Amino acid sequence: MPGGGSIELGRIAGIRVGVDASWFLVLFLITWSLTSYYGQLFPGRDTIAFLLACISALLFFTSVLLHELGHALLARRNGIGILGVDLWLFGGIARFDREAPSAGVEFRVSAAGPLVTALIAAACFGAGALLTTPEEMLHATFLERVDVSELTAVLAYLAFVNALLLAFNLLPAFPLDGGRILRAAVWRLTGDRDRATRFAAGLGRLVGLALVAFGIARLVAGSLIGGAWLLFIGYFLYRAARDEALRARFGEPFAGLTVRDVMDHEPVAIPEPTPLDRAFEDFFLRYGWPWFPVIDAEGRLTGLVPRKAIDDVAHERRHELRVAEVMAKGGREAIEAISVPTDAPLERLLASSALVRLGAVMAVDEEGHLRGVVTTTALRRLLRRDGAALAT
Ligand SMILES: [Zn+2]
Repeated sequence: MPGGGSIELGRIAGIRVGVDASWFLVLFLITWSLTSYYGQLFPGRDTIAFLLACISALLFFTSVLLHELGHALLARRNGIGILGVDLWLFGGIARFDREAPSAGVEFRVSAAGPLVTALIAAACFGAGALLTTPEEMLHATFLERVDVSELTAVLAYLAFVNALLLAFNLLPAFPLDGGRILRAAVWRLTGDRDRATRFAAGLGRLVGLALVAFGIARLVAGSLIGGAWLLFIGYFLYRAARDEALRARFGEPFAGLTVRDVMDHEPVAIPEPTPLDRAFEDFFLRYGWPWFPVIDAEGRLTGLVPRKAIDDVAHERRHELRVAEVMAKGGREAIEAISVPTDAPLERLLASSALVRLGAVMAVDEEGHLRGVVTTTALRRLLRRDGAALAT
């Protein structure tokens, strides 16, 4: 699954939109297969077929993006923070900084994406039906080779692919949208979110296994690409459902806590103007850590300095150079990757790649001042404490 490592395309309504490298493979495969599809629809017009394939692939990409933005915007309206929208091998993912606070919110956020997709499919079908006839458009939408214009052919493909996207997303298999809607329903009925998650994730695993079995059957029947695709989707769905069930358990003791509740309030940071020889003695030798956060004169987090950056500088030059000159500096992106807001819910840490990569994540206030640090060791301690409390 994509994480903080995705390539940022830009921001829409303040929401970070990223793509995982695997998405380019999808775009390539779609463009390639569509070129041959349009080539059969418009024989002898290879350039047109290729252009239509590129336009269709781009519009498919936009459809998936709009679906995810549907989730994201509704989440934001309900006070849930959005970490970003990412496109990867199997479509899109909107990542949030916390779980929905109620079954109603979970339902609305989960339904918003499929609703957008249904609207796109309906609009494309409607426009095509106006250009031809509803009957002809129906044939075109099922990708039958009927005699239609280029515009109608693209509309028909978009209606088809969005209908397919809708059907897949509505499978009652958590963490797909249909599974989330189901979870919201069970949550509302039982009043127990974790039970609802276990139930929906159980179905998610079952559907995943069914898709794997179906994929193997297709492979045996000789459908290589279709079979392999189903097998992969099934496998990822199975794994995602298993992980989400674990996450629900893991997140339990964290409910209601924020980063501020668990962070070390006196983080050790090196000021930017510190000469390297002093940084080495006062920090690296003294604490023995492999890296330190770096702050500017106002106490704002500006980056990290790894020990290696100092090791690489000859001893006699270390008093001339300052930390600011050798540190790993970055823009907002780089700072966001290693920090979390102090008031973020603790669940947000589970989505932090810095925690895995560095073993710690920096806590910053709204102005970017370094206020604390959360280490994996501290989190483990918290988990053990809660585990002990649960056991007694
Ligand atoms: Zn969705």
